[in-house]
Amino acid sequence: MDIELTAEQMIIRDTVRRAANEKIGPLAKEIDKEGKFSWEVYNLLFDLGLITMTIPENYGGLGNDWISICIAIEELSKVDPLAGNLIYAQIASFDPLITFGTDLQKSRYLTRVVNERKIVGISITEPGAGSDVKGIQTRATKKEGVYTLNGTKCMVSYGGVSEFFVILAVSGVSKGQKIISAFLVERDFGGVITGNEGDKLGLRGQNTCDLFLEDVPVPEYNLIGEEGKGPSIVLGAFDLARLGLAAQSVGLAEGAFDYSLEYAKQRIQFGRPIVEFQAIQMMLADMTINIEAARSLMYKTALLKDKNDPRAATFIAMSKVFCSDTALKVAIDAVQVLGGYGCFRDHPVEKMMRDAKMLQIIDGTNQINRIVVARTMQRSSRGWRD
Ligand SMILES: Cc1cc2nc3c(=O)[nH]c(=O)nc-3n(C[C@H](O)[C@H](O)[C@H](O)COP(=O)(O)OP(=O)(O)OC[C@H]3O[C@@H](n4cnc5c(N)ncnc54)[C@H](O)[C@@H]3O)c2cc1C
Repeated sequence: MDIELTAEQMIIRDTVRRAANEKIGPLAKEIDKEGKFSWEVYNLLFDLGLITMTIPENYGGLGNDWISICIAIEELSKVDPLAGNLIYAQIASFDPLITFGTDLQKSRYLTRVVNERKIVGISITEPGAGSDVKGIQTRATKKEGVYTLNGTKCMVSYGGVSEFFVILAVSGVSKGQKIISAFLVERDFGGVITGNEGDKLGLRGQNTCDLFLEDVPVPEYNLIGEEGKGPSIVLGAFDLARLGLAAQSVGLAEGAFDYSLEYAKQRIQFGRPIVEFQAIQMMLADMTINIEAARSLMYKTALLKDKNDPRAATFIAMSKVFCSDTALKVAIDAVQVLGGYGCFRDHPVEKMMRDAKMLQIIDGTNQINRIVVARTMQRSSRGWRD
């Protein structure tokens, strides 16, 4: 699917492409090796206006459309998927405030993101509750206008470097069902303790941490939306993360493909460049076919999102699955094209393969996203085709 870019979108593409190649790409290998969060990359992305793309203009953000956001994430992810992740992780974390926040919450927190470069984490997962969000145990007990949060959270993206968190907790029980609510928590409230930073397979500089909440006092005006709306509030945030992840997957696949194609043209075996062997050609053909299909689906989804089309959420789930599956397939084949050299960290495809595997798991596993698609199809006819 060809989308006609506006002049502004072309400027975003060209500017981000240049910054990705000249500044972000060269840092990627070291960040992966160290497995540490890079403030340098965060500040570069911030300076480019990429962190605040969805924050409304009246709070100092850019209020960009989803085509522009996906273009930026795709360009960055060609050279470093972690940079793409940083953008959509922040977009998802801001969303509960942008969509459900009070004027006070927005002016207090969104402006501090814009003016003070604060990072926001979103924390749902617990040791006993991953895909099953309603399995969370963290408690929010209210007394005299203050909720007190206690519990253990895990795998919080950017958890060690975030100043603000959107946290899901159980604030009561009604008719035997948990009332799950979303809270905006400042690290400075006290009682937010950063735990272990996981040593991961891919996206290694992501700073994915456990969080311990010990008697964290949260004023009642930091409840986001209404009590009991927590799961639906974070579902909207997940949708945004999944669309960003689809763009990240496409960029990753393109980066891996481009690298392996160039290698196949240079590498001589049996007196010929390996790109002349049919076995390699078939792999390169399948890689590019899948990338084109994934890219079309992702941009169609971004268009639907920009138009507030009611099918957007299901298309987002489809894109999340197809694009991340494609990213892994392409990255694995890219390593194969490089043969033994593909297994060494000297070549970026090794890292891309590790990063790609993560994308099938984070922001709702691909199994869970397939369930989302299947449930919609159960209610629809002919999968919305004309
Ligand atoms: C790098 C990274 C960053 C993360 N960042 C965050 C974050 O910022 N905030 C946050 O809250 N969480 C975060 N997570 C957690 C992530 O959202 C969970 O890992 C994910 O939702 C899956 O939960 P789980 O790991 O407990 O797996 P489980 O839910 O235990 O699933 C294990 C397996 O069972 C499958 N499965 C589970 N239920 C079903 C079902 N009903 N039908 C079919 N298959 C099923 C899953 O697909 C998976 O394959 C992060 C995770 C990682 C790895």
